Formats: sequence, C-alpha cells, structure tokens
Amino acid sequence: MPQSKEQIFAQARAAKLWAGNLIPGQTAPGARLDNTTPIDNSVIGAIEAGTAADVDRAVKAARASFKAGAWSQLAPAERKRVVLRWTDLMTEHAEELAALDCIDAGKPITECLNTDMPATLDTFRWYAEAIDKCFGRIAPTGPDALGLIVKEPIGVVGAVLPWNFPAQMYAWKVAPALVAGNSVIVKPAELTSLSAYRMTQLAYEAGVPEDVLMLVTGLGEEAGQALGRHMDVDVVSFTGSTEVGRYFLKYSAESNLKEIVLECGGKSPQVIFDDADLDGLVDHVLAAAFWNMGENCSCGSRLIVQSGIKDALLARLQERLSTWTVGLPTDEAVKIGPMVERAHFDKVRGFLDGAAAEGARLVHGGRVHADLGSGWYVEPTIFDQVSAGSRLFKEEVFGPILAVTPFETEAEAIELANDSAYGLAASLYTRDVGRAQRVSRAIQAGTVSINGFSEGDISTPFGGYKQSGFGGRDNGLEALDQYQQTKTIWYVN
Ligand code: NAP
Ligand code: MG
Repeated sequence: MPQSKEQIFAQARAAKLWAGNLIPGQTAPGARLDNTTPIDNSVIGAIEAGTAADVDRAVKAARASFKAGAWSQLAPAERKRVVLRWTDLMTEHAEELAALDCIDAGKPITECLNTDMPATLDTFRWYAEAIDKCFGRIAPTGPDALGLIVKEPIGVVGAVLPWNFPAQMYAWKVAPALVAGNSVIVKPAELTSLSAYRMTQLAYEAGVPEDVLMLVTGLGEEAGQALGRHMDVDVVSFTGSTEVGRYFLKYSAESNLKEIVLECGGKSPQVIFDDADLDGLVDHVLAAAFWNMGENCSCGSRLIVQSGIKDALLARLQERLSTWTVGLPTDEAVKIGPMVERAHFDKVRGFLDGAAAEGARLVHGGRVHADLGSGWYVEPTIFDQVSAGSRLFKEEVFGPILAVTPFETEAEAIELANDSAYGLAASLYTRDVGRAQRVSRAIQAGTVSINGFSEGDISTPFGGYKQSGFGGRDNGLEALDQYQQTKTIWYVN
C-alpha cells in the first residue's frame, strides 16, 4: 500500500525507516548505521552498512543473471512493459517516495512532490518507451559483404549515486542501464538510501528479476570502492564530487579497466548582459542559484553581470529573495531547507566566513539559522565584488551562496565564464540573437540555457566539459551509450 507523507513523517519520528541491501539470498541484515535527518538532526532509522563481500555476492548474481539471459536476452518491447509497470507502481507511491527524499536529504517537500518525482517518473517512462525504437545500422558495403552495426548491453553495471536528488539520480542511471538489458547494482549515497530502497522493492513487485537489479547500501569507502575495484563489473556510472570521481578512475586502472562515466561537480556561470529583460530573469536567476539550497550540480553559483545593470539587478534579486522562506522542509511553504549534514553545513559556513577576507561584499543573507533548532540551515546569500582569483569564485560551494562578479565587454564575460576548472552548465541573458549565438558557442559547458535557467529535459543529454566529467552523458538517447557496446558483425559473401 502506498503511504502518505504524514505516515512517512510519523515513521521517521518513531525512528522506523530502514534501507538495506537487496541481494538475492541475503536473509539477515548486517551491521547498521544510524540514519539522521538534517531537519533536526534526530535519528529516523538505520541503513545497512554494505560490505565488500556483499558487493561481491551482488556482482556474482548480476553476472549469472546476465549470462542466463532472462533479462538481457528479453525483447526490448518486453523490458519496456516491465519498466512501464514499475513506473505505474512508483506513480502510485510518488507521495511516499517524495516524503522519503524530504526527510532523508532535507529537501523541501513541495519540490520533491512537484519537481523531483515528476522528473523521476518521466525518466523511467521515456527510456522504457525509447528502447524498442532504437535501431542498429547497416554499413555501406558493396555486394561482397554485409556489415551490421548492433548495440548490445555491456553486462554488469555499477551505479554510484549522490545525495542531492536521490530518486531522480537513481532514475537517471537505472532507467537507461536496465532497459538496455544490463544487470545493475546501485550504491546510493549513505545519507539518502531510503527512496532507492523503496524504488528497488517496487521494481521486484513489477517483475524486474531480483538478480538483475540490486542495491548495496552503506559507505562509499567500503561498498562504493568495492564496486569500483571489482574485477567483474563492466562499467561504473558515477555521479558525485570531482574528488571521488578521481578515485573511480584509479579503482578502474588498478583493477579491470572497467569503463567509468563521471558526472561531477560544477561552478556554473550565469552571464547577464545589459540588454536583458531584468524583470523577466529574476526568478530564473534565483532558481539557478538557490534551488535545492544550492545543493545542485548545475547550480548557477557565479553571477557574471554587465557593470551598468549590476545594482539594479541586485536590488531586484534581493527584493524577490526576501520572499523565499527558510524553514522545515516538511512545511509546504518552505523553499530553503537545511544543508544535508553537519560536515557539509560546516563547509558552506566556511565560505560565508571566508568571503569578507577575500574582499567580497555581503549583499544579502549571510546568516545561519540557529533559531530553527538543531538542523543545518543557511540563509540564501549574495556576495558582490567576488574576484576571479578567490575561492568563492573557483570552488563548488554546493550551498545557497551566489558570487557576483561584474564585467564590461562581451570578451571579458566569456573569459570570466570560462575561468573555471568545471564546465557543467551555464545560462546567459540577452535580447541580442547574434550575441546569444556567439556566447553560447564560446562557453565551455555541457548545457547552456538562454534567457532562462534549465538543464533541458529528459530528451537532451546532460553532462560536463572539463573537470565536470567525461565518458558519457546522462539523459537523452546518449545515456544509452554508457550502457551499451557497439558490435560489428561482418558477413563475407
Ligand atoms: P560524493 O561525496 O562524491 O559521493 C558520491 C557517491 O560516491 C556516494 O554514493 C558516496 O558514498 C560515494 N563515495 C564517497 N567516497 C567514496 C570512495 N572513496 N570510493 C567510492 N565511492 C565513494 O558526492 P555527494 O557529496 O554525494 O554529491 C555532491 C556532488 O555530486 C557535487 O559535487 C555535485 O556537483 C555532484 N553532482 C553532479 C551531478 C551531475 O550530473 N554532474 C548531479 C548531482 C550531483 P557515501 O555517500 O557513503 O559517501
Ligand atoms: Mg539521511
């Protein structure tokens, strides 16, 4: 039975929420880790600390199921039917899944219900519907040969997930990997395993075999590393920090050269020219900077604005931002919940405390909210006069802090936008079509949105340039490439 958000919140108060390994044959759960909510730092239940041995059992089951072919050899239209059935079940459970992400990650419930869950369900539907419409190719040979170019599932896929969009990141990886015919092992973030656990249980109810989709919960250094180093995992698709992404390259190099796909961090610019529609862009700029408390890989954390309009823009941003409520994310009116955990809160606070010493001027916010009890709340904050050499300009904060840097010329704007180790996303605002063309081409980022903040939708590939990642893209038909091999079959006539 689907549960209401009130039922989930009540279970959280009773510390009854559980997520653990889902591996065939495992009966008793192993060691437990407390699961706390960032809302008030209380214990809401526990997760299982998956071990390297658990990962090994899951990989063996995955390899066996892949070889046996009950899923990998199924016609794509049949896989589609199962995944659509699963999506229908998740749709019935959407409120429950939204509430799990809210309580686990501190994400505003309204966002979980109205943004994360619809996007999650769309992702599953889209890949289920796509897979039986993907054709192979025939090579342009003469009559002496026939060359077929076919796509095949790769085999055993590891999906390692971050905590910022738990249900949605699960969908971005699992949907394309599974419809392509792979056996998949998911390692959710230690902080947010609840929705992944529930979604995987629902997959079994819908008919996804238990040895085809598995879950190993627990710590990255243990379970994540074991997946990365396993000799019989064919690909790891990773979304998380650039720092941990590097580890996966090392794990691969030191094990079986498994394919690694990295979707990592960002420090995305929002470039505003003085001909932009200032009133029309305010909500977009704020959403880019502060949506999901800035805990967003494509967070538009650098505002690069033409000098002449800077003060007028900042005044508008401040006025609108003062209507954004900081508070308990279980409250439907709240737009800014807590940072996901104490250590992350401390990191974000470090940027607040360090900005003045770097010469930045506080324009808005700047406080942490001790009045909200023992959660980890930070006010949405804007700093002006952030210099290109400063930490605030260069480093991913992953919190609600917007760094403002003025420019004079188009060339200078491009220079500043590209002055980053990252290249995940960017947005730019101008009414000049020629300039929009030039600048969108010149910015080094995987997604550039014009006159609004957007990551595109499920039909468009998403991923990074530079240290924001490589090896493939999430979303779009491109995501299937992460999970498929290309084979040439050559008939000699
Ligand atoms: P993270 O610390 O890198 O963790 C990501 C995953 O890796 C978690 O499951 C984590 O497990 C695991 N992990 C941690 N240390 C590991 C190790 N030594 N070996 C193997 N696995 C390890 O990232 P996060 O803090 O969860 O997420 C925030 C980051 O994700 C940001 O940098 C953000 O930009 C990025 N992100 C990128 C995208 C994108 O599409 N490009 C989307 C969303 C987020 P534990 O949870 O147990 O630590
Ligand atoms: Mg948690």
